[in-house]
Amino acid sequence: MARPMLADAEFVNKAREGREDEINTCIACNQACLDHTFTGQEVSCLVNPRACHETLLRYVPTNSPKRIAVVGAGPAGLGYATVAAQRGHAVTLFDGAAEIGGQFNLAKRVPGKEEFYETLRYYARMIKVLDIELHLHTSVDAAQLRAGNFDEIVIATGIEPRVPQVQGIDHSSVISYIDAILERKPVGSTVAIMGAGGIGFDVAEFILHKGTSAALDLDVFAREWGIDFEHHPRGGVTGMEPLVEKADREVFLLQRKSTPVGRGLGKTTGWTHRLSLVRREVKMLNGVEYHKIDDDGLHISVNGAPQLLAVDTVIVCAGQLPLRTLYDELQDSGMRVSLIGGAYEAAELDAKRAINQASYLAAMV
Ligand SMILES: Cc1cc2nc3c(=O)[nH]c(=O)nc-3n(C[C@H](O)[C@H](O)[C@H](O)COP(=O)(O)OP(=O)(O)OC[C@H]3O[C@@H](n4cnc5c(N)ncnc54)[C@H](O)[C@@H]3O)c2cc1C
Ligand code: SF4
Repeated sequence: MARPMLADAEFVNKAREGREDEINTCIACNQACLDHTFTGQEVSCLVNPRACHETLLRYVPTNSPKRIAVVGAGPAGLGYATVAAQRGHAVTLFDGAAEIGGQFNLAKRVPGKEEFYETLRYYARMIKVLDIELHLHTSVDAAQLRAGNFDEIVIATGIEPRVPQVQGIDHSSVISYIDAILERKPVGSTVAIMGAGGIGFDVAEFILHKGTSAALDLDVFAREWGIDFEHHPRGGVTGMEPLVEKADREVFLLQRKSTPVGRGLGKTTGWTHRLSLVRREVKMLNGVEYHKIDDDGLHISVNGAPQLLAVDTVIVCAGQLPLRTLYDELQDSGMRVSLIGGAYEAAELDAKRAINQASYLAAMV
């Protein structure tokens, strides 16, 4: 119960009062707790930046309630909206999508990240409890916001995927990570993933996954990690080769940097992601230069040596760019406009900074 108490210090009180649906759930990411411990940083929590910072980040009731528009209901917009509303401001939250959550709706589909759904369950409940006016299917523009007469506007519009300048990037075999994870486009049996950041790893896990996720079934988890819960062997592990189910697919995970693939992943979780893909026989290549994509596949060189990957699908996970069009348009309107989350800085797996930034800003408004 250590991490759940960081995620929500009111866990026990809420449970006792029958308000389980208001508990902010630990999503087992380790990003602000154990990763911080093992890198000499102050511990906190991705879903609750107040954890261990209670005297610095204070949600004091406001004396002068404002009308605030928040555009984008991803983690940043949700974090801002709930803190501002908790302090007594009147918040209207817009999102063009059919559901709240932004990119967390992609993350929650990745095997092992199912608990991300809990963050959205929590926010959906808090939107009701705090009386936040939510408008889904509502892609707002600058004119609508100007007409709304808001005291403050907060732009949390997120990102757009970066498209690398490679010859043949518009070839029919090329799809984005969004299409792959939402299964909007078919993925073939030999696949190259361009980009081995956190999202590249998640995409590889997603397309190689078969059967029940180990995060949802204790027996599958024990089999995948060689754990024996019954006989209590030394260290809890059987010493036998772990049994891993895998989709019938050959996957190449490529990165341009010459550092080891997966080096930038979380300190305490990165090794599990790497091992999971190694066991699913993913071929990880670094020092890759992309030349072109055509009917034969993806033409690359690896540390200078030319090579053809005869793949039938190329999935692009080549980073993200901040989506700031709306913010730029509002800049000269004379209105008070702030920018948070991925729209402020696009950095792949970065909900920790998004929620943290949103919470501090909402604590001051
Ligand atoms: C597969 C995957 C796995 C991930 N795993 C992790 C992880 O393990 N850890 C981690 O920290 N991060 C992870 N992330 C990244 C994390 O989801 C992002 O850092 C976070 O979602 C950024 O939050 P945001 O609110 O700034 O933007 P977003 O989540 O992108 O939300 C932006 C929202 O704005 C809406 N919007 C845009 N324009 C408008 C408009 N004009 N009007 C109305 N609405 C608009 C969009 O519909 C969207 O809902 C993952 C991302 C992906 C894709
Ligand atoms: S940082 Fe992640 S793992 Fe750690 S307590 Fe918070 S939600 Fe849980």
